[in-house]
This record gives sequence, structure tokens and C-alpha cells, in this order.
Amino acid sequence: MTRVLVVEDEAAIAELIALNLRHASFEVEIAETASAAQFAVDRVLPDLVLLDWMLPGASGLQLARQWRADARTRDLPLIMLTARAEEADKIAGLDAGADDYLVKPFSTKELLARIRAVLRRKAPEALDAAIEIGTLRLDPATRRVHVGGATSAEVKIGPTEFRLLHFFMAHPERVHSRAQLLDRVWGDHVFIEERTVDVHVKRLREALAPTGVATMIETVRGSGYRLARPKIGGTP
Ligand code: CA
Repeated sequence: MTRVLVVEDEAAIAELIALNLRHASFEVEIAETASAAQFAVDRVLPDLVLLDWMLPGASGLQLARQWRADARTRDLPLIMLTARAEEADKIAGLDAGADDYLVKPFSTKELLARIRAVLRRKAPEALDAAIEIGTLRLDPATRRVHVGGATSAEVKIGPTEFRLLHFFMAHPERVHSRAQLLDRVWGDHVFIEERTVDVHVKRLREALAPTGVATMIETVRGSGYRLARPKIGGTP
């Protein structure tokens, strides 16, 4: 389930957004201040944050800058909400690292469309769209993995390996550290040991081995793991 953190101090607005997002099958948490938002993010990294500009204490803009400066939250999908419509504010918001910007009042339809657009760009694993890389196809809607195009065979994998493969396929070629994988795939970077990642990568490779695509999951020594796109023109 896609986790959205709503950072908004006006309770009525926060509740309305939360209601609409829950109706659209998102899991929603509300934070009323910048420090409550930081606390929530320290605990579990959300898939996306809706961040109000005007907050008591530290502003949404300060919080956005703070998150962009931290390796763990650098890529956190972020949409700023504000009552300000002036162009200079919009530019300040985008400069602070917001992925998009919504001016209040906005319709639920527009909010959902913007959320989906930002997720497609930055966290496609939070959406239900099927992903294909080489001969490998993963469909989150049916929770199935196939290899081999038209004459494809289904690959049987466990739920954790499925989520891990989904994340790798949504971010091909990028190297992910074990800590990042725990954060993004397990949603727990504190209590689960990094060795757990190795165990599930091993299981994922074992499941993919009969289909010949297990080598796509590469170990990057000293850094973590990466899913490499198959080289065009066959095996090197
Ligand atoms: Ca506010």
C-alpha cells in the first residue's frame, strides 16, 4: 500500500485530504508540525509527502531543504501545498527541492493526478503499473512475474522477493545500499538487520535462476545491489 504523509497544521484541510486519499486506497499519516513530520519520516520513509508551506515553527520550505540535504530523504517524492499563488513562491518551492506544487484550493482529482505523476517519475514501485525489463515482466495488479515474452513462463516467488524485484525493476541500473533497500522495500531501517537483505536477494536469484535472468541482479562490492538491464545483442 502506498504511504502518504500529509504535513498540514489546519486539521480540517488535513482530514479532508486524508479522507480523499484513503478513499483512493492510499495509507495516510498526518503531521501537524515540521517536527512531527520529521519524527514520522525518521521512523518510516513514506512513498510521498504532501507538505504545506505555512506551518507553525519551521516552515514547509525549510523542511523541504532539510530533507533534500540528507542522503536518506534526498529522493523523497514531495509535493508542496500552499495558499500562495505568486510565481516567486512557486520558484522558491521548486528550488527547495519540491517535485511539484499545488495552490489551495485544489480539486481531489488534480491532487490525485499530481500524486500519480510524481510517483511515476520517482517511485513507480508505489503504483500498480506493470514493468518490463528485457524478457522479465512484473505485474503488481496480479502479483505475477513472467519471463520470456509470448511463450512466457511464470516465476514463483515469495511476497518479499516480489516487492524486492518490483523495487529493483522500478529503479534499474541504480545501486541501492542494504540500508536503502530496508527503508524502501521493508519500510524499516532500524530494527531489521542488513543481512536480511542478502537472504532475500539470494532467494530472489534462486527463483529467477531456472529462467536465466538471475544474473540481472548484480552485487556491487562495498555498495549494495543493482538490477542491470540485459545488454543488447546478447551475452557479452
Ligand atoms: Ca498551514
